[in-house]
Amino acid sequence: MIHTKSALIPSQSPAANPAANPLFSCKANHTGRSPVLLFSRMHQSSLLAKLDYSVLQQCMHCGMCLPSCPTYDETKRERNSPRGRISLMRAVADGDLTASRAFAEEMYYCLGCLACETACPAGVDYGSLFETARAEVERTGAAATPQRTFWRWLTLRHLFLKPRLLRALGTALRIYQKSGLQFVVRKSGLLRFLPLSLRALEPQTPTIAPRFSHELIAEVERGFAIRPSASAEPPPSQNKEPGETNSLPPQTPAHRRVALLTGCVQDLTFPHINRDTADVLLANGCEVFTPPVQPCCGSLHAHNGDLESARTLARRQLDLFPVGELHAIITNAGGCGSHLKKYGHLLADDPAYAARAHDWDAKVKDIHEYLVENGCRPPGAGCGETSVTYHESCHLCHGQKITAQPRQLLKLIPGLTLTELPESSWCCGSAGIYNITQPEQSAKLLARKLTNLATTQAPVVATSNPGCHLQLQNGLTAHPGHPCQTVTQPVTLLARAYRAEMAAAEARLDR
Ligand code: SF4
Ligand code: SF4
Repeated sequence: MIHTKSALIPSQSPAANPAANPLFSCKANHTGRSPVLLFSRMHQSSLLAKLDYSVLQQCMHCGMCLPSCPTYDETKRERNSPRGRISLMRAVADGDLTASRAFAEEMYYCLGCLACETACPAGVDYGSLFETARAEVERTGAAATPQRTFWRWLTLRHLFLKPRLLRALGTALRIYQKSGLQFVVRKSGLLRFLPLSLRALEPQTPTIAPRFSHELIAEVERGFAIRPSASAEPPPSQNKEPGETNSLPPQTPAHRRVALLTGCVQDLTFPHINRDTADVLLANGCEVFTPPVQPCCGSLHAHNGDLESARTLARRQLDLFPVGELHAIITNAGGCGSHLKKYGHLLADDPAYAARAHDWDAKVKDIHEYLVENGCRPPGAGCGETSVTYHESCHLCHGQKITAQPRQLLKLIPGLTLTELPESSWCCGSAGIYNITQPEQSAKLLARKLTNLATTQAPVVATSNPGCHLQLQNGLTAHPGHPCQTVTQPVTLLARAYRAEMAAAEARLDR
């Protein structure tokens, strides 16, 4: 491994010499030990220093990525650009800079949208750099405050690590929302006793669905039958612990057997999209295996600097699914899919899981990708909508390079016109939990998206990620006069079309 000093970014930039910038100065040494010795020890354990140095060297500072970066577009400051951030990361890797609080703030100001990867002619793996840089921030505690540490412990180490606990919280939230208690709390003014940050977030709390995915989808489903709607009677649930299911009954020869990932946020807020995904797969001749209790994929953890928990969750997924028996493992969430396809990289140093993770990566398919690759049967009826536009999830288009397939599927639906959305691949500001951690910048991006949506005059916008779905839904709810008032997903429109086709066939039989 060649380890050279970091190249400097252009001298007119504020980030040209990060070490000389007071914002990026090393943290004060209160221990009384030699600062040189202390720094050298800290540097040796730096995660960025341990990263394959060729990844850091890939950037040739051409600046081609700058126009596509939403944070650079906002500030026009080099340090807020992909090139500037990579220089900072390289300075940390080289030991020229410690992961200070300012470094941490810069890494968390980045959306992680990966638009820079799409624009980069050198093929810079910004996603790996970004995840490692955030992990370094967490390792050093550069951004730590008691409040932040508590919320990270509660969410990353408990709620999103334990699917049953997350569902229990979802059930409690559902009762709070449906019992009228939420209405009373909002009207009574009790919310003013919350800290300002939580008060601002309260209206964005997603509505919890009346039933979760395992109450809508049986563990194994076969045949071409389409359920009339997600409100149909639930199948018998066979709750097993993660890890219990590792083999399946004999495969029906006529069917391609696929597994369906139900996600965590998707499971609580949009389980009907999981039902729709299963229905579309069934309508295309698949046998669908959906374990009733599934762990989070770990993308939330990886994107927020908790790579250890991300590895734990990846191992649980590998224990749960019989990868060798499956034609594909289907995801319908862009953010999850981008992470799920990198388990091989995540577990490369784990001898017990590395080979399985490699096989897993090859089997994970986004639903649109899978349908287009294997041939999607055009539905014989419309979906009830006539005009739609399409917003691209960053991690579907930039992370997975899946751009044409969702559009191709929408165009298969009879009577539906797709109007292109200007800047369709520009981030909507959701970006994982960016709307919570950076509400101001997130709101600016959402406003830009709503302006673009208005130009299409489409009443419906389709997208393929629960985070984007919620962000757009919150934005449109706050603007009741906006021409677009419905957020949906391509797979939902496709499932509706298949259901309409089946209803028409049944009506003909009844005549
Ligand atoms: S991930 Fe997005 S916000 Fe971050 S540097 Fe790349 S383009 Fe800019
Ligand atoms: S486009 Fe790629 S190589 Fe050029 S500055 Fe941006 S990250 Fe570096």
